[in-house]
Amino acid sequence: MIKIKTREEIEIMRESALVVSKTLGMLAKEVKPGVSTLYLDKLAEEFIREQGAIPGFLGLYDFPNTLCMSPNSQVVHGIPNKEPLKEGEIISIDCGALKNGFYGDHAYTFAVGEIDIETQKLLEVTKESLYVGIREFKAGNRVGDVGFAIQNFTEKHGYGVVRELVGHGLGRKMHEDPEMPNYGKRGRGKKFVEGMVVAIEPMTNLGTHKIKQHSDGWTITTLDNKPSAHFEHDVAIVNGKPELLSTFKYVNEALGIVTDIEDEFRAN
Ligand code: MG
Ligand code: MG
Repeated sequence: MIKIKTREEIEIMRESALVVSKTLGMLAKEVKPGVSTLYLDKLAEEFIREQGAIPGFLGLYDFPNTLCMSPNSQVVHGIPNKEPLKEGEIISIDCGALKNGFYGDHAYTFAVGEIDIETQKLLEVTKESLYVGIREFKAGNRVGDVGFAIQNFTEKHGYGVVRELVGHGLGRKMHEDPEMPNYGKRGRGKKFVEGMVVAIEPMTNLGTHKIKQHSDGWTITTLDNKPSAHFEHDVAIVNGKPELLSTFKYVNEALGIVTDIEDEFRAN
């Protein structure tokens, strides 16, 4: 069942999303060669707690850490470890926070130092596909409209759209209805209405869309071991239109990225 949020609840959720946005911004300055994902995980846990929130993933379905840290060919759900990040790698960081009873859930894929052009393009296209999908999350449209838009955009670049993992409704639970696949057909699935809040999160592979699950029960990698990227935003329907609750503003500030792409999805 889809849980519609009131304006007041959406404002509370904006705070939860902002905790995560600021955490990703803090991490953007710390991601560099030689730093371990476990170190970053501890920084994030402290940072989230300092903001009066609780790490959203820690203990959720028995996940052992604050961040899902998925380097290179790992798609999502990677477990932080002591291995140092290396120049030329990429690291997808997915972060959740629980504040005032509501979750934020938001992800970004970072370059570790300099990366090759092919992988850089994968990151750019995946990030852009997120906004392409968000644009379709409006009253009257359906789940398939978002999925179609992301898939169509992504596959034009020759990339693989992961099928097994999807976005989701967000609220008092981390994963609410509806499921939000990054593939689909126009006009299919549940209809979007005022007050819906979802996490849209394209997971895009440089090569095949196929994945494999590892024996730790968490780690998922691409079948061909080529890189995979993941970007995620929390979005509400306000006045019939998509409004971003999370923001990459802090990441962009940390990385020196100048963009106005999010302006389209802000309340005036
Ligand atoms: Mg997430
Ligand atoms: Mg999510």
